[in-house]
Amino acid sequence: MAIYIPEDKLAEIRNTANITDIISERVVLKKAGKDHVGLCPFHSEKTPSFTVSAVKQIYHCFGCGAGGDVFSFLMKYDGIGFSEAVQSLARRYGIDLPERNMSASQRKVASQRQQLFDLNKQVMSYFISQLSGRSSGQKVRAYLEKRGFHQEIITQFGVGFAPDGWDNLVRFFRKLNVSQALAEKTGLVVPRKNTGLYDRFRNRVMFPIFDVSNQIIGFGGRVLDDSKPKYLNSPETPIYNKSRSLYGAHAAKNKSRETGSVYIVEGYFDLLALHQHGITNTVATLGTSLTAEHISALRRGFAQKAFLVFDSDEAGLKAARRSISLFMNAAMDAAVIVLPKGYDPDSFIFEFGREAFEKASETAIGMVEFLIESSIQSNGLSMEGKVRVISDLQQPLLEIKDSVARSIYIKYLAERLSVNETAIIEKIKSGEKRFKQAQPNNWLKHNDDKQSLSENDLLIESEMIRVEKQIVSMMLKSPEILPEIKKRRVLDYFSDKRLIEIAKIVLKHPIYGDEDLPGLMNHIESTDHKNMIASLVIDDECRDLNNCEQLLSQFINGIERRQSSLLSQIKSAQESNNDELLFELLRKKQEQLINR
Ligand SMILES: [Zn+2]
Repeated sequence: MAIYIPEDKLAEIRNTANITDIISERVVLKKAGKDHVGLCPFHSEKTPSFTVSAVKQIYHCFGCGAGGDVFSFLMKYDGIGFSEAVQSLARRYGIDLPERNMSASQRKVASQRQQLFDLNKQVMSYFISQLSGRSSGQKVRAYLEKRGFHQEIITQFGVGFAPDGWDNLVRFFRKLNVSQALAEKTGLVVPRKNTGLYDRFRNRVMFPIFDVSNQIIGFGGRVLDDSKPKYLNSPETPIYNKSRSLYGAHAAKNKSRETGSVYIVEGYFDLLALHQHGITNTVATLGTSLTAEHISALRRGFAQKAFLVFDSDEAGLKAARRSISLFMNAAMDAAVIVLPKGYDPDSFIFEFGREAFEKASETAIGMVEFLIESSIQSNGLSMEGKVRVISDLQQPLLEIKDSVARSIYIKYLAERLSVNETAIIEKIKSGEKRFKQAQPNNWLKHNDDKQSLSENDLLIESEMIRVEKQIVSMMLKSPEILPEIKKRRVLDYFSDKRLIEIAKIVLKHPIYGDEDLPGLMNHIESTDHKNMIASLVIDDECRDLNNCEQLLSQFINGIERRQSSLLSQIKSAQESNNDELLFELLRKKQEQLINR
């Protein structure tokens, strides 16, 4: 691509922009001699090897070799093009760029993201004006007031209101002369089946979602009553990446760095309530599950310790189970704050105040301990109960790679259950063996026995489809697993064409929360497929990410074993001159090749 920004302008930007400032907005940097160091955002590490030189205005990672200047950092970190990186720095430092140097298409690419940022800003103002408006806004203002929120906090977070009705925002966009294509790109309006658009957010309190540079990347809406879904977020757009964005991150960063800890809550109101009470090191997940990217961004750019504060034990348990290995792999300390029954962070802090909340966080327990205690609570301490507790904990303990930490937890578990430590270690080890060897399940047993080929094949086939269904179901529910699915080329092993098609769409349009489901459905034409997705979403069989990874290994290993078993059967059929069987086996092999 031709450089269309004059060299002197680039030099001006390079001289004005301070690479340490820009990077430290995204990565916690510590002074080390003349340079600054931090945890590399481009590979996962526990000790900092990412170095930023203010003198040379460059960065370099001794771990993965990434390096460059302030432009290349922004390009790589934000996933944007060169011209956009230049533009965003120019804007930030108030340097005028001569636009005439850009070709029409360059301008278009570079400005689409900016158009979306600008439009989102106008939409925020629109929602704010609806909130302060006379008619429908009044009930919402009363509602917010009744919940105890001060005007300052509402203003600080740009809280607004999307009135009831199908085309309020549509008409607002029309008034601004926004093209339908751009309007759709915001994700705030949805194309109708035939023609035209309708509002995604109706009768909801609206919360703009800011990135760390204070630009609005999307919106979240919350219902005023108990209707569902409680939280609705913008779908992913060219500027909104859900697996990277957390609500409130822009307002939580400084305090998190200062205190070395960050609170993770579920909802907008939880976050607002904590901020209003001075606990400003708080981010919210908005009903989506924490991803490895969220956690590593928090670890790198915010703090080393996370407190998970969830509405109920059950939600906390779910979140802890799902994210325990993510926190551990990112070397981030994580603890769970258990609030008294019936309270969420919002209601708790309004009723008992900041001190009580801080006291509760002092008694927060580590994730493993939390899992142990929750399991004891639900299984009891009878002999059978203890057995169940140990098997509940087998997988989480297995995932702890640090052997010292692992043995500490095992010791704790042994003492808590009054069970011999060695017995627990043995149980864990048995899991490890299974984990590593991925022993065949029943459905993968190959037929050494006398069973006829076709009968056994049918059995395997139906079992395979069952497992494939489980995998797609988990892809829908645990987006964290998607990179693994891609990396291991799991879909190549699938046999069911319908499931392959659905899985491919899920890979393209990941589901981070309930609100993404309608978007995914839009990409699917066949009702049959839609029904299947619905049933897979509801299917409860594979919720636990740990089991998911195990399932994947078993699935792939099983297929490979089956294939090699087929080869050896072909060989023995050849040797025994059993032509009929040989023909049958070759046909099978052909099928496998076609499917792959
Ligand atoms: Zn690196």
